[in-house]
Amino acid sequence: MSASKRVLVVGCGFAGATMARLLAEQVDYRVLLIDRRSHLAGNAYDYRDQNGITIHKYGSHIFHTKSRRVWQFISRFTNFNTYQHRVVAMVDGIEVPVPFNLESLRLCFPPTLADRLERQLLERFDYGVQVPVLDFMQCQDTDLRFLAQFVHDKIFRDYTSKQWGTPPEKTDAAVTARVPVRISRDSRYFTDPYQGIPSLGYTETVRRMIEHPNIELRLGTDYAEVRSEANSFSHIFYSGSIDEYFNYQLGELPYRSERIELEEYAFPYYQSRAVVNFPSDYDFTRIHEYKYYLNEQCPYTVIAKEYPEAFCRGKNERFYPIASESAGALYKAYTDLAQASPQLHFLGRLGDYRYYNMDDAIARAMQLFDELNHELMS
Ligand code: FAD
Ligand code: UDP
Repeated sequence: MSASKRVLVVGCGFAGATMARLLAEQVDYRVLLIDRRSHLAGNAYDYRDQNGITIHKYGSHIFHTKSRRVWQFISRFTNFNTYQHRVVAMVDGIEVPVPFNLESLRLCFPPTLADRLERQLLERFDYGVQVPVLDFMQCQDTDLRFLAQFVHDKIFRDYTSKQWGTPPEKTDAAVTARVPVRISRDSRYFTDPYQGIPSLGYTETVRRMIEHPNIELRLGTDYAEVRSEANSFSHIFYSGSIDEYFNYQLGELPYRSERIELEEYAFPYYQSRAVVNFPSDYDFTRIHEYKYYLNEQCPYTVIAKEYPEAFCRGKNERFYPIASESAGALYKAYTDLAQASPQLHFLGRLGDYRYYNMDDAIARAMQLFDELNHELMS
């Protein structure tokens, strides 16, 4: 172990913060942790407003994971409530549970038709399975084909076009598979065994994660400002976008961004739950009502409308990598360039160019740390 070894971690979202903590705590490295934003927690950043409502600046963040290791790690820095996310989509003016499930079916169709469709679904699929809508569309049976087209058109087609600028068939299949049709009555958005909202908020959780004598934090600091010192670090862990690191020399990786517009109202509640999706109506995809997450009581409420838009450098932030064959090839070409610098490691949603949830960002940092552990200890 060497307390004198210095490493640089770029980005203080969950990926960077986890890596900084592990390096500081487990191998006694001195870590310089930078982020060009003026705040911690990356896109999970939250803050309390003047009414005591916790606002998720970049859109709703719900923590959920299958990984006990990730859950135990983050739980060292905060408690979680037992919030289980339930979303509805407005379908022809009716609130329908999403993912679309057997309850949604009953809300969308008259009882005799719903009975018939449910019977056919249960003949075709085992109870409890989850079917991505694009697979569901492959059903040949007339009734099931009708239902698949209904779910596709009412839930996925327009939402996906707004979100990605492409319809489901032209969007990476893994994207719509995140919200599969459920052959069950489970109306939770996530089925992971561990889920909740950190009672302290995400920003405070990350602040505690990086609170360690070996970690020096510099916010408002872009990598470009420390690049000239890069050789003085034994390793660089970079959770920004890999194309930017290489100054876009092979081309630009495509991303989607969003505009989140807040509205405050002088009454206690605006809608029935934290998130209501609007697949077909309006230009926004969903409305978030933040006070539900921590059950914050006050006479006011704040909602956020989420408007997807193209990512444009200097104008907005990178929110979603847009997976495609060409983007994958470009990403791979950048990682090939990175091979020339063995002390340089990419991680996180931007560094790995992967549609990570928060738990994936933490798990990826842990995995990279484990891979390098031997080298770091020597
Ligand atoms: P980020 O949080 O993006 O952090 C990267 C950091 O690096 C940023 O702070 C950035 O400023 C900094 N940076 C980049 N380049 C540089 C540079 N050159 N110099 C200095 N700093 C730099 N996940 C869930 O698990 N549950 C959810 O409910 C959920 N909802 C989401 C909703 C929306 C609208 C979005 C966009 C994402 C959502 N996510 C959710 C995903 C979650 O935000 C990410 O998984 C997580 O933030 C990834 O962490 P990260 O550290 O990889 O990246
Ligand atoms: N989706 C949809 N309609 C919905 C919910 C989701 O079409 O009501 C599709 C859409 O393509 C979206 C994807 O499923 O981008 C993944 O949804 P998720 O809620 O996981 O997206 P995120 O929270 O990451 O923005």
